[in-house]
Amino acid sequence: MTASPSIVWYRDDLRVGDHPALHAAVERGEPIVAVYVLDEESDGIRPLGGAAKWWLHHSLASLADDLRDRGVRLVLRRGPAGRVIPSLVDEVGAGAIFWNRRYGGPERDVDAGLKSRFADDGLEVRSFDGSLLFEPWTIRTGSDTPFSVFTPFWKACLAADEPRHPLPAPAELDGYGGPDGRGGPAGDDLDEWGLLPTHPDWAGGLRETWEPGERSAARRLRAFLDEDLAGYATGRDRLDRQATSRLSPHLRWGEISPHRIWHATRERAAGAEGARKFLAEVGWREFAYHVLFHFPELATRNWRSEFDAFPWPRLHPSALTAWERGRTGVPVVDAAMRELWHTGSMHNRARMITASFLTKNLLIDWRRGEQWFWDTLVDADHASNPFGWQWVAGSGADAAPYFRVFNPELQREKFDPDGEYVGRWLPDLDGDDYPEPIVDLKETRAAALAAYDQVKASR
Ligand code: FAD
Repeated sequence: MTASPSIVWYRDDLRVGDHPALHAAVERGEPIVAVYVLDEESDGIRPLGGAAKWWLHHSLASLADDLRDRGVRLVLRRGPAGRVIPSLVDEVGAGAIFWNRRYGGPERDVDAGLKSRFADDGLEVRSFDGSLLFEPWTIRTGSDTPFSVFTPFWKACLAADEPRHPLPAPAELDGYGGPDGRGGPAGDDLDEWGLLPTHPDWAGGLRETWEPGERSAARRLRAFLDEDLAGYATGRDRLDRQATSRLSPHLRWGEISPHRIWHATRERAAGAEGARKFLAEVGWREFAYHVLFHFPELATRNWRSEFDAFPWPRLHPSALTAWERGRTGVPVVDAAMRELWHTGSMHNRARMITASFLTKNLLIDWRRGEQWFWDTLVDADHASNPFGWQWVAGSGADAAPYFRVFNPELQREKFDPDGEYVGRWLPDLDGDDYPEPIVDLKETRAAALAAYDQVKASR
C-alpha cells in the first residue's frame, strides 16, 4: 500500500460530480480516503436542526453508495474537526488533503487552523471553489468594499469571469484500503449517529416530500428545466403552484453545484426571462454568502446596528407557540407553518409572509423565528436563513424597508387566489376548533411602526 494517500474531506458538498476536491485527488494519482466529520464541538459551530439531520443522514447514505460503486469507502468520524482530521492524516500517512471551501466564520477558523498546521508539516493542502459561483472576496465595489445591495452585486457578478464549467464525475476511483475499502481506516456506523428521529418519528412528511442525494438533485434540475423554467418569472410567487425548482436542500447540502445549475440553465435558455430570473435567485444565495463572509455574526447580530435600539417587547411565549404550531388564526400564516412542519420546507413567499407576521405583527425578535426555521427546514442554511430573516425584519443587507409590513390577507388573495394552498394545509379552517386571530392586523401594524420610530431616532 502506498505511503501517501490523498484525503478528501467532505463537508457541505455531498456529491461526486463537479467536486473540485475529489477531482484534485484523482489528478494526484494516489489512493483516496474520503471522510465526513460530524462536528458538533468546535468553537462556534452551530449544531444542526432536526430536519437538517434527517436530510444529512440520507444524503450521506447516498454519497456512501455512490463512492462505494466507484471503489472508495466513505469514512465517518465524529468530534471536533481540528482533532479528528489530523489524527486521520497520521493514521493513514496522508500526503495530501483537499476540501471545498466553507464560508461561515467558525468553519473558516477551523479550516484556516488546519491549513496552516498541515502546511507547516509539509502536507499538500488545497481548498477549492465547490459551493459558490463567485468567491465572496472577489466581488468588490468600485471603492473596493464588499457589496451591501443586491442589484449592483449581481451586476458585478455577471460582469466577472463566467463561472467554471462543471467537472465530470469520475467513473472509477482508486480507494485506499482496496476496492471495498476494508483495508482502510475504520469509521462510525451512520445509524449510530442517531440523526433520524425515532421517538416520535416525525419525519413521515419529509419522506413523502423529498428524496435526498445527488441523483435525485440531478433529476430535479432536469424536471425543472423541462417543465417550469419557461414560466418561472411569472409563476414563482404563486403559493398554489409548484413553479420553483425546489433545489434548495440539494444546494444546501451540495448534492448539486451551482456551477452545474448555472451552465445547464444557460444552455437551455440563455437570455430568456425565466432563465435570467432563476439565475438571479441563485444570485441571492451568492449574495447571502457574500454578506455572511463579511459579517460572520449574521445569525446573531443585526446587520444594521441601529436595529439594536429596537424595543422588542417582552416575549409572550404563547404567541410564539401559536406561530410555530400554525394556530395564529391567520390562515395563510398557519397554512405555511404547517407546510413547514409537515414537509421541512416552505415556499419563498410564505417564508416572507410568516417572517413578517412574527417580527412585525407579533413583535417577536427575528432571532426566535430564525431558530425555528433552522430547526425545521431541510434546507436550513448558514447564510440564506439568517439573511432572509434579517431581510424581512428590516435589519439586514438590502432589506425590505421596515415599514413594509406584509398584509397576510392581501398576500393570500394575490398569491393563492382560489384558496388552494390554504385549503391544502388547513383542512380545519372552517371547523369550530380553528382559532380566532390572536392579534388584530391593523393595530399590530401600527404598534410595529411606532416601535420602529425608536430605531429611526437612534440613527
Ligand atoms: P427557486 O425559486 O427555484 O430558486 C433557486 C435557488 O436559488 C434556490 O434553491 C436557492 O438556493 C436560491 N434562492 C432563491 N431565493 C433565495 C433567497 N431569497 N435567498 C437566498 N437564496 C435564494 N433558502 C435556503 O436555501 N435556506 C434557508 O434556510 C432559507 N431561509 C429563508 C428564510 C426566510 C425568512 C426567507 C424569506 C427566505 C429563506 N430562504 C432560504 C430563501 C428562499 O426562500 C428559498 O431558497 C426558496 O424558497 C427555495 O425554494 P426553491 O429551491 O424552489 O427556489
